[in-house]
Amino acid sequence: MFFYIPTKVFSEKECVFAHRRELASLGTHALIVTGRSSSRKNGSLSDTEKALGECSVGFTVFDGVEENPSVETVMKARDIGISSGADFVIGIGGGSPLDAAKAIAVMMKESLAQRELLFDSSASPAHLPVAAIPTTCGTGSEVTGISVLTRHDLRTKMSMTHKVFPDLALCDGKYILTAPQRLIAATAVDALSHLIESYINSTATDYSRMIADAGLGKWRECRGYLNGSIPLDYEGAVSLMTASTIGGMAIAHTGTTIPHGLSYTLTYEGGVPHGAAVGAFQKGYVQNACKGDREHILSLTGFADTDELGSFIAEISPVNVSAELLEKAADAVMKNTRKLASCPYEVNREVMSSIIGGVVCSG
Ligand code: NAP
Ligand code: ZN
Repeated sequence: MFFYIPTKVFSEKECVFAHRRELASLGTHALIVTGRSSSRKNGSLSDTEKALGECSVGFTVFDGVEENPSVETVMKARDIGISSGADFVIGIGGGSPLDAAKAIAVMMKESLAQRELLFDSSASPAHLPVAAIPTTCGTGSEVTGISVLTRHDLRTKMSMTHKVFPDLALCDGKYILTAPQRLIAATAVDALSHLIESYINSTATDYSRMIADAGLGKWRECRGYLNGSIPLDYEGAVSLMTASTIGGMAIAHTGTTIPHGLSYTLTYEGGVPHGAAVGAFQKGYVQNACKGDREHILSLTGFADTDELGSFIAEISPVNVSAELLEKAADAVMKNTRKLASCPYEVNREVMSSIIGGVVCSG
């Protein structure tokens, strides 16, 4: 067994400013990679600019990262980063800017390489240092080496072959306090999915399960914030973000499995947000697991049975997808031997039908 998280993580109030020296130590000029507008509204961008300014570190802002970032966006940001003379990358936002930042850090360092390098498993490229400042509570990308990119050429999403763990993660719950309820819910469902898929995974170890257990317990504390029965406050925001970061630590060890594989078709073809897409398959995934794993997940999350788990997810993060799209997603994963191997139980077409049969559609 092996346990290693190479990212230095700080989780505290005003942590971007408090840890400005660690941030500034990563280089002399930062390429800040972010989405179109949310980091301006929630204060994470201005906090970062202030922190860098205090330390006399220059920066260039690339604010063109779309949801489910594409390889084309990575290449565009790489050119801007290189021409600005940046020598480190700061991702600010949800999983999309954080994932993009990792791929951009590779392509900036390998400045002459073509886009194919991102998916070339025979290569071991270097990368610039990366810092990650999350503003959603779902992906845990701030502590994973994973960068999920949209491949328009293949009409799907795919992880970059190379692992890029951020050097520094600065997590402050205040950035999600102003987020819409539906975004908080969908991203929290993503965090839950990471914890479940890491626990019920063929590569799970005692160490990774220890992490998943801690995250599932933390997630359970947050249920009231997600269905609106408890108003979200700073303490709740911190708990949600912590559950998400722990989920990232869990999948950093095991990766995700069948539900994430299925989600990519729903997102690419059906425009379903990532968290909602992965959440839709959790009921079926847990239902088909062995009795011990199923009961463990239900007891830690506080659900009586998988129906209650599925209903809770469907209530806070609804999806409405056609049977055809679900079949298409299932067909794609049945051909993905790596995803199938990451599931600890055998998934034949019948079991796959049962997993997609667990999807609770709204409307
Ligand atoms: P996201 O795609 O990063 O962002 C979704 C939307 O939320 C964007 O419109 C963004 O606006 C907005 N937003 C972000 N923070 C906000 C805030 N605090 N308040 C208000 N709006 C805010 O969402 P995500 O679910 O966090 O990330 C999903 C991506 O991460 C997917 O591509 C998924 O495949 C990937 N992922 C990665 C990992 C990993 O380990 N690396 C794990 C799971 C998922 P702006 O565009 O204006 O910023
Ligand atoms: Zn996910």
